[in-house]
Amino acid sequence: MERFDLAVVGAGLNGSLLALAAGEAGLSTALVDRVPLDLMTEAGFDGRTTAIAYTSQRLFEAVGVWADVAGNAEPILDIRISDAGHDGRASRMFLHFDHREAAAEGTAAAPMGWIVENRLLRTALLRRLASCPAVALVAPDEVTESHRDADRAELVLKSGRRIAARLLASAEGRFGSMREEAGIGAREWSYGQIALVLVAHHERPHRGVAQEKFLPGGPFAILPMRDGPNGEHRSSIVWSEDAALARRLLALDEAHFRTEFARRFGDHLGAVEPVGPRWSHPLGLVHAERYIEERLVLVGDAAHGLHPIAGQGYNLGVRDIAALVEVLVDAKRLGLDLGAADTLERYAQWRRADNFAMVAATDLLNRLFSNDSAPLRLARDLGLAAVNRVPPLRRFFVRHAMGMVGDLPRLIRGERL
Ligand SMILES: Cc1cc2nc3c(=O)[nH]c(=O)nc-3n(C[C@H](O)[C@H](O)[C@H](O)COP(=O)(O)OP(=O)(O)OC[C@H]3O[C@@H](n4cnc5c(N)ncnc54)[C@H](O)[C@@H]3O)c2cc1C
Repeated sequence: MERFDLAVVGAGLNGSLLALAAGEAGLSTALVDRVPLDLMTEAGFDGRTTAIAYTSQRLFEAVGVWADVAGNAEPILDIRISDAGHDGRASRMFLHFDHREAAAEGTAAAPMGWIVENRLLRTALLRRLASCPAVALVAPDEVTESHRDADRAELVLKSGRRIAARLLASAEGRFGSMREEAGIGAREWSYGQIALVLVAHHERPHRGVAQEKFLPGGPFAILPMRDGPNGEHRSSIVWSEDAALARRLLALDEAHFRTEFARRFGDHLGAVEPVGPRWSHPLGLVHAERYIEERLVLVGDAAHGLHPIAGQGYNLGVRDIAALVEVLVDAKRLGLDLGAADTLERYAQWRRADNFAMVAATDLLNRLFSNDSAPLRLARDLGLAAVNRVPPLRRFFVRHAMGMVGDLPRLIRGERL
């Protein structure tokens, strides 16, 4: 039996960051995943990019990962949001956020966030984990049994390995099994949409502007990437579409796909060309009724998986991790039990409101915008234009997108534990 303070199940973006933040803070941690870790960094594993919010970047900096990705991270300087019809043409009424609006008077303006390729994030996290002495990497292996009681938690793995810990963290993503096995229910539904993910090359530079066009089938996001190795101007596309249409689009040949894609993308960046593989992600929502059980916490998508409409799903997970590690480190320093109910309750209470607000906001936005109703379209356009005219409202939304509101954990404030 190997013994740890914390055993994390799932080495996705959330589990690997949790294990690293915990390990760097001195908690002995086991990180288990059924997938071989080096496979996760291959180009064919995950073709997405992630919008890392301003405050999430501070945690990456604090755990020593940011230096590895900074050179490949494209700053988000502006966000432009507009409604668009079936022809892909954007309405003249739009909402524009400028990163300079969030800066306090007299201070330099920071980007709202950065676009980073998931492949590079995973590589940086795993590289740092491999050199963190407090973390044991247990992969590929799989949890076949878990037991929890008042004294400790235990995992039995497929390999026969047995791991005991003060606390288990499920970072198994939205399809994990530990939540249900622990009797924790969830609100969950499908949006009947699929997100097509791909990279596009375009003639003109994006100048750090992220665009979101609300098409009748769902949001079409154009996210600024670092220029390619030969100076190609590039954007990452998250194109949410009605599931049946998305499947037909995925099956199109190159020429027909390019036509459908270019119509939606528009010509604001000159000629555009989809390149590389087309990825697909069915979209749905899952929000756990509670995040804790005896000696068990849920983190990241295992607790809340949401629509990528606002690019905030992982950023919520990052804030979960910052709160959880702070709570655990405080408990350890006081000589308290890491898995004690009041320690876990502090985590759950800290994260509930922030997660609930984002889950509700993304759900509402997707329902309001992913349709072709004329009265709703008019209301949306007027709403976007109205917010655009009120600087304090714009500033409120920019600060939310940057993750700068609420009671921020120390790691998110850029402090070390
Ligand atoms: C199209 C799209 C675009 C997105 N863009 C953004 C964005 O711009 N910004 C943002 O903040 N978020 C974004 N997100 C959300 C973000 O990608 C997710 O929140 C994040 O990837 C979830 O990571 P995770 O580690 O919680 O789960 P997962 O990535 O699902 O990882 C779970 C891991 O657990 C392992 N596992 C599960 N069960 C077991 C078991 N029993 N034993 C061993 N291993 C197990 C799995 O093998 C897997 O590796 C986007 C999501 C989508 C779909």
